[in-house]
Amino acid sequence: MLDAGDLVHPDRRRLVAPLFRTVTVTGLFLDGPHPVSPATMKDVNSIVVLTGAGISAESGVATFRGPDGLWEGHRVEDVCTPEAFVRNAALVQRFYDERRARLAEVKPNPAHLALARLDREWPGQLLIVTQNVDDLHERAGARRLLHMHGELTSAWCLACDGRFRWHQPLGDGPACPECGVAGKMRPDIVWFGEIPYGMAEIEAAVEEADLFISIGTSGAVYPAAGLVRLARHMGARTLELNLDPSEGSHLFDESRLGRAGELVPAFVDELLGSANAA
Ligand code: NAD
Ligand code: ZN
Repeated sequence: MLDAGDLVHPDRRRLVAPLFRTVTVTGLFLDGPHPVSPATMKDVNSIVVLTGAGISAESGVATFRGPDGLWEGHRVEDVCTPEAFVRNAALVQRFYDERRARLAEVKPNPAHLALARLDREWPGQLLIVTQNVDDLHERAGARRLLHMHGELTSAWCLACDGRFRWHQPLGDGPACPECGVAGKMRPDIVWFGEIPYGMAEIEAAVEEADLFISIGTSGAVYPAAGLVRLARHMGARTLELNLDPSEGSHLFDESRLGRAGELVPAFVDELLGSANAA
């Protein structure tokens, strides 16, 4: 039986810390937006790409908030919070068990493949930060990748704090491969109120970035949604590739609207073309 004390290992204190530090953005857009064209890309060395559920939509993975405001038929409060896990662990485990099983039925689409190509061929710095918990970026071949919201294919033992590659269900209370305790494994997913993985690394990369690209994310989930402000503040060019304008769309130098499966390969071609021309 789980109780609130099970949610976080005493040494880790991952729960409920302040969200991303506030960045005061002054003077934004004073000199007008800068289109992210090949001409402006020639000085680009360091790139951060932020991806969200929209990049996996064309692979057949449902986005977070469908037209019904639900994620695969569930309210976010029922499956994406530590409180939900305490209240009804069986429901939460079943939800993620279904999402994990579904990974076997989907495959990377041209947008994932294009980012993997960028990773292979981009000679400068690159970090792909994904909010997605699916494994489509790595299956496409991306390596310079950080899963800030955790992964469906990872399980976290609340008894020993170990994290393990995991492809089986968790709902039947399996024993931990490390400490042997049964029934204490939870999905290694960052829920609302928990701190994303890799924030120091992400923040450092965004501060260094010359170009910040956001793909397939609604800009509604923080701290990810705040990264564009930090990027702008530190002088990066900012580009959004999304089906609809995101909530922070006005913060981007340029928004290209359409399907990720078309926009991302075209942009990666531009970017690699400009790198080869330099
Ligand atoms: P979101 O569902 O809030 O927003 C998705 C965005 O993608 C929308 O703005 C939509 O217009 C856009 N979009 C939809 N189809 C697109 C397409 N074909 N091409 C380009 N853009 C498209 O997702 P979010 O901003 O990533 O926030 C959701 C949270 O839910 C994340 O924290 C994530 O961990 C989790 N989540 C993950 C997955 C996954 O791993 N694939 C799926 C659903 C939710
Ligand atoms: Zn364990």
